[in-house]
Amino acid sequence: NPILLEARDLTRSFSVSQGLFKGKRKLHAVNGVSLAIAKGEVLGIVGESGCGKSTLARMLLGLLPPSSGEIALAGENVGKLGRLGMAKRVQPVFQDPYSSLNPRRTIASIVALPLAVQGIGTAKERRERAIAILDKVGLPRRFADRYPRELSGGQRQRVAIARALILNPEMVVCDEPTSALDVSVQSQILNLLNDLRSELGLTYVFISHNLVVVEHIATRVAVMYLGRVVELADTATLFKAPRHPYTKALLASVLTPEPGKGIPETGLGLAFPDPLNPPPGCPFHPRCPAKMPQCATVTPKLRADTAGLVACHLYDEPASTAA
Ligand code: SF4
Ligand code: MG
Repeated sequence: NPILLEARDLTRSFSVSQGLFKGKRKLHAVNGVSLAIAKGEVLGIVGESGCGKSTLARMLLGLLPPSSGEIALAGENVGKLGRLGMAKRVQPVFQDPYSSLNPRRTIASIVALPLAVQGIGTAKERRERAIAILDKVGLPRRFADRYPRELSGGQRQRVAIARALILNPEMVVCDEPTSALDVSVQSQILNLLNDLRSELGLTYVFISHNLVVVEHIATRVAVMYLGRVVELADTATLFKAPRHPYTKALLASVLTPEPGKGIPETGLGLAFPDPLNPPPGCPFHPRCPAKMPQCATVTPKLRADTAGLVACHLYDEPASTAA
């Protein structure tokens, strides 16, 4: 399939205040990420909180300009398309259906708002279109004049999905769209997203810290750590034969949740490092069970081979012996 969205060497840093008298530090939230997303695919992006996946999502949506690098949608620069131009083509679904819906608007007017912002149709036409799209996400007409507080979490997320689809976008960027929901509701929302994708020919970027959820919906998965992509492969390959030690740790943690303690995000012994003070060399080395001497000083490059992409010295090409 043709490439729909391409990100080249994306970087985003923020100035972060260290507190009184300590000045500011640069936080490299996203650090040199390149991605090519094909039309019709679901690219899963996984990693712990703080790995930069939400910052990446906001850049892919055109809501946050990159510090450096480029994003192109079907060959057009996302910055040049502008907010209104991007909104017609790429839409978000965010995690929290409680805070993302205006409590003072009815469901129909929330869903119709993107049409109004674009100046499309009359108020009556917009309302009819909102009701039609609400029906598509499983909310019958009687929901149109209700308020968000009258809906369950799953119903609210359906409203957010309807709002994302009303402009007929090509792509939807979902950032933890099911993380605030009960497990049973999560799978309903995932199934709905899957059905809508095939029915409408959509492309998704699907961001989550939850590998089980990503395995269910993604066709390829990128694993992020401290602002970088450290592994990228087809979903089946990644889950069957993970290569990066961080991916392996993430998968192991899914298999051994600790009851009563909540589910640890990774099960890794050491806490996530301070993103303001990332380790030198391989950013994962302080937590890596497979680290080697060079890992503390040399940052591994993301390398492509037949199984996908991986950034780890374990997969470096053997040093060529001069002929
Ligand atoms: Fe572990 Fe070294 Fe690979 Fe980093 S480069 S993941 S420290 S083995
Ligand atoms: Mg996030």
